[in-house]
Amino acid sequence: MEVCSQLPVLPLDRPVPQHVLRRRGAISLGTSSALFGGPSPRQLCKRRGGVSYNSADQAVLYLHLLGDVKQRGPGPSEPVRGAPHSQVKVDYQRFHCHQGPVRPGARGLKSHRRRLSFQRGLKSRHLLQRPSGPQHLLDQVYNCQVKCMLDKVDSWDFDIFMFDRATNGNGLVTLTFHLFLQLGLTRLFRLDPIKLRSFLVMVQADYHQRNPYHNSLHATDVTQAMYCFLRQPKLATTLSSCDMLLALVAAVTHDLDHPGVNQGFLVRTGHHLAALYKNSSVLESHHWRCAVSLLRESGLLDHLPITDRLNLEERLGSLILATDISQQNRYLARFREHLDREDLSMADPSHRHLVLQITMKCADICNPCRVWRLSSQWSSRVTAEFFHQGDVEKKHGMAVSPLCDRLSDSTAHIQAGFIRHVVEPLFREWCRFSCTSLSHRMLAHLQTNLDRWTDPSQHPETPP
Ligand SMILES: [Zn+2]
Repeated sequence: MEVCSQLPVLPLDRPVPQHVLRRRGAISLGTSSALFGGPSPRQLCKRRGGVSYNSADQAVLYLHLLGDVKQRGPGPSEPVRGAPHSQVKVDYQRFHCHQGPVRPGARGLKSHRRRLSFQRGLKSRHLLQRPSGPQHLLDQVYNCQVKCMLDKVDSWDFDIFMFDRATNGNGLVTLTFHLFLQLGLTRLFRLDPIKLRSFLVMVQADYHQRNPYHNSLHATDVTQAMYCFLRQPKLATTLSSCDMLLALVAAVTHDLDHPGVNQGFLVRTGHHLAALYKNSSVLESHHWRCAVSLLRESGLLDHLPITDRLNLEERLGSLILATDISQQNRYLARFREHLDREDLSMADPSHRHLVLQITMKCADICNPCRVWRLSSQWSSRVTAEFFHQGDVEKKHGMAVSPLCDRLSDSTAHIQAGFIRHVVEPLFREWCRFSCTSLSHRMLAHLQTNLDRWTDPSQHPETPP
């Protein structure tokens, strides 16, 4: 039984609602009366405890009080059957799952094959329903804490990990909904708040929480970074409302249904999406199609003219596809040319769109530009995901992908290369364009973090 760090928090003196047990199979306990005094997040964290239930008979399997609740790291991979690798069948639904294999009932297998998503099928009708009473109880417990944090949502030091705990794992919905209001998008586009919330709930649910890195927390972090960038003078004064709407939707959906492995893995294991997208920007194309399907399913933009909707969907794809790191040089070369010629005009829609694509790329890979306290946590997470893929590849006799071998790679080595070859070139150009205190600060963090990763005294495990 797994204890999740994103547990709904309940007061100790109230019964556990059935829907909580059904939804997660686990709860954590908090002393609600103390929360209203506004304790520091650190104190709050210490007060938490956890209880896990067997979802079948609801017997308590795990109890931990007065300590922090930690998520177990991703264990050995689940069922990948068959070798050699050209015939490897990966059960993406259970890729990071530690529970038993899927029962081979004919009905189960049939429905599994029908699924287009990497994970379970989305039960949209349930998600589109208004939340029932008891869920409000959970939402209210941390309201004070969440409100305090949202007041500083434009801070580059915003602690997204703490925010996620304070929102009981609903950071994506809470933060993005707030930003829509903050930017006036709900009013400007006459968005139905219930549909907006439903859309965000579906987006959050379509991320794989078992991925160490590519989960809804990463999407929330990218969305928060995007908001910081949108507030920079060059963008805030020139982007249209439509640009702002697109930027937020792209940020929050850009890794939807990510399976926790890279494109190379999908190609080598013959995944149907690799064939569908002709082995090119496979993941990004899938993220985009998922985003479009959730937009349509939620009906969020149904009141807009069809041509506007189609145009928005097309531009959304263009922003999400820009996050394909293998294509970075192409985007960066165009951006650099404009900067060199000093002919970038924010009055020109095509130029504005290019800037938005670069902004999206910056938001996606800005982890090394955060303060070390936050940046190092992201580094550990992404390494865990890479190494998990490497473990699966070894298990099935496949060649281990670059950066995925836990025996020869290290977090320090991976981060140093990533910063030097990918992040720094992008943010140098961004700084030329934006040239604000934030862009200089990001470069300063980048250098500090690089220094720490390349200092052998701090990372003795770094390979030569
Ligand atoms: Zn991403």
